[in-house]
Amino acid sequence: MKNRLARCFVRLTLPILLGCFMPLASHAADNVDGPAKPAQAEFKPSPAVLARVEQSQRLVETWYPLINSLLFDEGHALPFTDVEIVLMPGFGPELANVVAYASDNSIYISAEQVAVMPDNFQAMMVHEITHINQQYPPSKQQVGWLVEGIADYVRHKYFEKDIGATLQINAQDQLSGYQPDAPYFFMLEKQGISLKEQGYLKAYTVASSFLYWLEVSKDKDIVKKLNVALSKGEYTPELFIVYGGGTLDILWQEFVGASRAATLVTAATAKP
Ligand SMILES: [Zn+2]
Repeated sequence: MKNRLARCFVRLTLPILLGCFMPLASHAADNVDGPAKPAQAEFKPSPAVLARVEQSQRLVETWYPLINSLLFDEGHALPFTDVEIVLMPGFGPELANVVAYASDNSIYISAEQVAVMPDNFQAMMVHEITHINQQYPPSKQQVGWLVEGIADYVRHKYFEKDIGATLQINAQDQLSGYQPDAPYFFMLEKQGISLKEQGYLKAYTVASSFLYWLEVSKDKDIVKKLNVALSKGEYTPELFIVYGGGTLDILWQEFVGASRAATLVTAATAKP
């Protein structure tokens, strides 16, 4: 179906098993080839799903250039002239929980999962649009957590406006006090995941909070600097020493300590 608006369109097609974008998957799984086969049967998404996806087309028109200006220096060209949104029935049984993923200039969406996803679809789309902007060259460094952290940083700082420079963590450095309306934190909390050692590798919202803490306490431009380094293939973990004044793991320990202290203060304040 051709979009009424310029720039992007929704193409309806059959599910084809692809790579995935999942909360705990590595970023490498985001980079997959798009579907090659044409539709073989009519696919009719529900009006509610279709409405969400059509709304997200307008989101792309606004946020694709905006994210470019947020993450790159002035004059940086958009990586693609067009962005494509591909709505599919689902991604097959092995990827049953995958809602969406980005590859090159396309965002693939599972109608099946959009219908039941617990959190904000449009916010998730901002995360995926950020991946279209990123287009980093391959890196020999461990960057998956940072790629996903930057995408969630854009989502939570600029779109949802709910980013925090601390995490709610208990004495065991596990997330604590999150509700289902913060699904990623809630999931990690239910699993009792300790964030003490290299917790930033949990990526996504955890990493985005860490990046925001670095921004407010170490270098206000650190996210853009890291993004530009990634895009030039110049990222190394030593950049955290340059911009943050400590190794990645030392900075993470400092962040966890600050989060723990903030949680204790909040808990004490909350007592009657
Ligand atoms: Zn992602």
